[in-house]
Amino acid sequence: MTGPAPKGRPPSGKHNVELIKAGFAQCRYIVSDSSEPALCCGAPTDGGSWCEWHRHIVYEPARQRVRDRSAA
Ligand SMILES: [Zn+2]
Repeated sequence: MTGPAPKGRPPSGKHNVELIKAGFAQCRYIVSDSSEPALCCGAPTDGGSWCEWHRHIVYEPARQRVRDRSAA
């Protein structure tokens, strides 16, 4: 899937929620590295596991690897 670059800024931290409490259509991207319990983004999604912003962050490295492999 090739979409436009994420628009705007990262979702506000006001959505942050404990990972175990994240419900359907809430972004599950972990925003806390060391705190317990783990906090995830929690921003509303369109039904996926990540909000638009974090979906781009998650998919970007994958696209990079594909590009590197085809260039080699
Ligand atoms: Zn998110």
